[in-house]
Parts: sequence; structure tokens; C-alpha cells
Amino acid sequence: MKKIILTGDRPTGRLHIGHYVGSLRRRVELQNTGEYDEIYIMIADAQALTDNVDNPEKIRTNIVEVALDYLSCGLDPAKSNILIQSQIPELTELTFYYMNLVTVARLQRNPTVKTEIQMRKFENSIPVGFFTYPISQAADITAFQATTVPVGEDQEPMIEQTREIVHKFNATYGEALTMPSILLPENAASMRLPGTDGHAKMSKSLGNCIYLSDDEESVRKKVMSMYTDPGHIKVTDPGKIEGNTVFTYLDAFCRDEDFAEFLPDYHNLDELKDHYRRGGLGDVKVKKFLNKVLQDRLGPIRARRAEFEKDIPYVYEVLRKGSEAAEEKAAQTLSAVKAAMRINYFDSEELIRTWQNRYSTEE
Ligand code: ATP
Ligand code: MG
Repeated sequence: MKKIILTGDRPTGRLHIGHYVGSLRRRVELQNTGEYDEIYIMIADAQALTDNVDNPEKIRTNIVEVALDYLSCGLDPAKSNILIQSQIPELTELTFYYMNLVTVARLQRNPTVKTEIQMRKFENSIPVGFFTYPISQAADITAFQATTVPVGEDQEPMIEQTREIVHKFNATYGEALTMPSILLPENAASMRLPGTDGHAKMSKSLGNCIYLSDDEESVRKKVMSMYTDPGHIKVTDPGKIEGNTVFTYLDAFCRDEDFAEFLPDYHNLDELKDHYRRGGLGDVKVKKFLNKVLQDRLGPIRARRAEFEKDIPYVYEVLRKGSEAAEEKAAQTLSAVKAAMRINYFDSEELIRTWQNRYSTEE
């Protein structure tokens, strides 16, 4: 069986370091292993419109921003198809058929959708399109026959729902869809990186982000004003690691080599944590170290972005080609789906002949 990746992002803003550790970093690694036969990276503009109905310009602008972030992180158009969701009409068609395989009650139970409805204060005015976006996400994943979906923890309920749809479709109509698996980040801190304010999730919609495209000074300022342990007031006070955002970021980003380079008093993160717990280690010192680590990771990304920013026509060309390749694949799946559902009326001469014979013998 082919190994195929599908994943993506909503173009609701530039990408941040939560996206990087939650999904982007892994994608680039997987891409470069050469183990995958096909890779599809989707900019989910149609999904973003489900909760940005009145702001199409925001989505339009951020398509380019997200594409620039992708390229600067090392996604390579020669290995990965970067596509725009709305340009693949087959995805909408699949969504419509899958809607019959899901109940309203099941959608209402989806914990991520529940949280997002609260976050957006939709209350009794949830747009139907937003409510049903897990179904459209199932269409995105299955259209490319994805085997592997590398995403953050918040996507777990979506993949679960997709798997149910695949199971139901295949059981009802015959095996036309591939069962996908989620691929979560390796460490807990990367599953759901908190915001710089200590909020549970760094999110474009919450304004608590360090963006991949932030300049050096903005990153430094954001790090220096980050949420730590509110009980750690004097340097001599013992400090808490749990819920301390600075340490969570270090968990997600730092490697042992960083100590040799930027903080040689310690050998690894465990030593640093122990000292903080004991007391005698100030927040400023830890934040300065985190800043150095982040600058080291973000510097090359920033530099590559500056290069791609000089050639926007190239970026559009990448998107056009990626979308074309994606549509070809999605059309094959749609055709298999329609055949399985017995709605491929014009595909076979056989069907016409059968009816012709039935009526001509009756005369
Ligand atoms: P929005 O607020 O518009 O929903 P978002 O910041 O949640 O934006 P998405 O485009 O919904 O970003 O998510 C894209 C991918 O990034 C998903 O795989 C998601 O799991 C992952 N991701 C988003 N935020 C984080 C985070 N804070 N930590 C880890 N992974 C994340
Ligand atoms: Mg989101």
C-alpha cells in the first residue's frame, strides 16, 4: 500500500511556533525521509471561511502568508504538493455524500468543535458550515487516500470522526476509502503548545503567539514578558515547572547541544529544571536562554522567508501546480466513491445495454 500524507492549516493568520512544533517540523522531517509516496499539504481556505464569513479578504491575504511560512520551514514543492482547498471542487462533493453517514448528535459530541463554538461565542447562531467542518475534513483526508495525518492533539477528535466515516462508507458501499492514522508530535509539550500568556493553546485567534515570521526583537520581547510561575517571586524562591510556559517551550524546542552553546553551566534541561525547583535560579536567566534557543531555530526560517518574499509569482506558481496535482488525485477518489455509491451512470456501456436488453425483450 502507498504511504500518503495529508495535513494542513487554516489561512486565518501567519503560522506560529505552536504550528511548528505541533505539525510543521514533523512534516518537513517526514518529507525528507523519502518514505512517503505522496504528500499533500493543504491551505484550508474553505474551512477558514466557515467562521470568517464576513472577512474573505483576511483569508485571501493569509493564503500567501501561510505558503511563505511553509516554504521557509523547508516544505519542498518538488516533494510535497501545496494546495488550496477551495480549488479542488471534488472535496465539496465528497463532503456532501459523507454528510449522510454522520448524525447531528455525533457532531455535537465532538469535543474540539464544542470548545471552538464556545471560543467563538456562537451560542445559538452556529453556522451550519462550521458545525459540519469535521465532515469536510474527512473529505480532505480521504480524497487523497491519506494513510498518515501529522497534526497537533486538538485534531484527534477530527481524525476519529474521519475514521468512523471511512468505516461506515466502506461497510455500506464497498472498500473505496483508505483508513487514515493520526501522527501526534513526539513530546507532550509539542502536542498543544500554550500561548505566551499561559493560555492552554497558542492560537492565531487568541493573540498569544510567537510567529515564525516575527523579527528578532519581537521574539525577544515576547519571551521576556512570558508567563512563568506566579509564586516564584524572589530568585531564591523554589519554582514550579508544571504550567510554567517558559519550561514548556524549552521542552518543545531545546536540545542538549543548546546548553553547551548558550548556557554551559548546565548539561541538559533536567539539570536546569532541578535548579529552578530548588530555588536560586531567576526567570530572567531562563528566559534569556529560551530566547537564544528560539532565535537559533527561527533565524534560518526568517532568512529563507525573506528570499521567498522577493518572488511572490513563484509562490503562486507553487500553489497552482500543487492544486492541479491534488485535483487529479481527488478526481480519482471521487470517481471510485461514485462507482461504489452506484451513482456513476455514464461510466459504463454495460449499464445502458442492460436496460436496452430488458426493454427490448419485453416487446
Ligand atoms: P485557528 O485559531 O484559526 O483555528 P490555529 O492556530 O488553531 O488557528 P489551525 O490552522 O487550526 O491553527 O491548526 C493547524 C495545525 O496546527 C493543526 O495540526 C493543529 O493541531 C496544529 N496546532 C495549532 N495550534 C497548535 C498549538 N498551540 N500546539 C500544537 N499544535 C498546534
Ligand atoms: Mg484551529
